[in-house]
Amino acid sequence: MIRHAEIAGAGFAGLTAAIALAQRGWTVRVHERSSSIRAEGFGITLHPNGLKVLEGLGVLDTVLQGAMRVSRQDRYNDRGEIAATFPVKQTYRVSRHHLISELESKARSLSVEIQTSSSAVAASEAGELILKDGQRLKADLIVGADGYLSQVRESLGLMRRRVWLKDGAMRMIIPRSDLEPVHEPRQGAPSSEYWSGTRRMIYSPCSPDEVYIAMTCLIEDTAAKAIPIDPIVWRQSFPAHTDLIDRILTQTAWETVKYVPFQVIHLKQWSKGKVAIVGDAANAMPPNLGQGGGVAMMNAWALAVALENAVPVEEALRHWERRERDLTDHTQRWSRLYSSATLWPPALRAIAFKAVERNAWVRSRYHRTANAVPAGWS
Ligand SMILES: Cc1cc2nc3c(=O)[nH]c(=O)nc-3n(C[C@H](O)[C@H](O)[C@H](O)COP(=O)(O)OP(=O)(O)OC[C@H]3O[C@@H](n4cnc5c(N)ncnc54)[C@H](O)[C@@H]3O)c2cc1C
Repeated sequence: MIRHAEIAGAGFAGLTAAIALAQRGWTVRVHERSSSIRAEGFGITLHPNGLKVLEGLGVLDTVLQGAMRVSRQDRYNDRGEIAATFPVKQTYRVSRHHLISELESKARSLSVEIQTSSSAVAASEAGELILKDGQRLKADLIVGADGYLSQVRESLGLMRRRVWLKDGAMRMIIPRSDLEPVHEPRQGAPSSEYWSGTRRMIYSPCSPDEVYIAMTCLIEDTAAKAIPIDPIVWRQSFPAHTDLIDRILTQTAWETVKYVPFQVIHLKQWSKGKVAIVGDAANAMPPNLGQGGGVAMMNAWALAVALENAVPVEEALRHWERRERDLTDHTQRWSRLYSSATLWPPALRAIAFKAVERNAWVRSRYHRTANAVPAGWS
C-alpha cells in the first residue's frame, strides 16, 4: 500500500524529508507559507554529515557546483593573532539559495507536490494537517518542518523549553575585492573568526567572487547591532579590519539584513501520534558549529529511513527519536557552550580554542556531529 505524507515547511528539513520519503515510495505534499521556495541569500556551511545526506538524496554533485571548500577554520584572539586552527574534513560553504533550489528540483522530479502560499496552523495526532484556509488533510505521516516558530509543534503542546541566548548575528554577502586572493573552489579558502570582547566577525569566501560575513554581538549591544552597521563602532573593535568594515557598509544589501537572536529549543518529544517535528522546529540552536541545517537534514533523512520498517508509524517515530536525539542534544549543548564563550574573558576563550585544536577528546566532541554517519549508511 502506498503511504502518504503531508509536510509543513519547505526549508532544509521539509525538502529533505520530502525527497527521502518519495525515494522510498511515499506520495508527498509539501506546504510552504511563502509565495515561493526561496532561502535567504547567505552562505551555509556543510560538513561531512550534511554532505552524506545530500549524496543519499542524489543532489551532492549539483549542490557542490559553485560551492567553496573550507580549507581550515582559523580562530583569532582579541589581539588579532591566530589563537587556533581547526583542520576540517570535507567542508563546503554553499549558497543557501542554490541548495534550496537543488532540493526543490529534486523533490519535483520525484513527483513531490509543493504548494506555496499554503500555511499550516496545526496538526492532529491521528494524522491530519490543518491549513490556514480550514482544509484538514489526512495522511499516514504529518511532518512539522515549519521552523523555529512552528505552529504544528505548538498545536500539539510539544515544547519543553525555549532558551534565548545573550547573543545573535547579522549575515551578509559582499563582493571579493581585487586586493583579496582568488580562491579556487575545490582547493578552498580558510574561514576566519575574529574576536574582540563580546563582538565577533566571521569572514569566509563562499564563491570565487563573494565573501560571506557574519557579525555577532550581544543582544544588549545596541551600538553593534544597528542596521546598517555603524562603522565607527566596529572599527573600534576591529582596527585591523577597517577596510573590510567599510566594504561591508557600502556593499551590503541592507534591506536583506536582520539581526537574529540565538535560541535553543528543546521538545518533550519529537513526535505525537503520526506527527513528527523536525529541524529548527524541534531543535533550534545557535549557529556556532554550523550544524543547524546539517542536523535538520540528518534528522529528516533518518525519519524516512526509520519509516522503512514495517511497523506502525507511531512506533517508527519513537525509534527515530531514540536513534537521533542524543547526537542532536550533544550538538545543541556544544553550540550553546560556544555561545557562552562570548562572555568569557578573552584569555579563557583563547585557551578554549587551543583545547579544541590540541586536545584529542575536546576535538572529537567538537567535531562529533560533523563526523557523524547519517542513518542507513554503514
Ligand atoms: C546566523 C546563522 C548562521 C547559520 N549558519 C549555519 C551554517 O553555516 N550551517 C548550518 O547547517 N546551519 C546554519 N544555521 C542554521 C540553519 O539556518 C537552520 O538550522 C536551518 O535553516 C533549519 O532548517 P529548517 O528547515 O528546520 O527551518 P527553516 O529553514 O526555518 O525552514 C522552515 C520553512 O517553513 C516555512 N514555514 C514556516 N511556518 C510555516 C507554516 N506555518 N506553514 C508552512 N510553512 C511554514 C518557512 O517559510 C520556511 O521555508 C545558521 C543560522 C543562523 C541564524
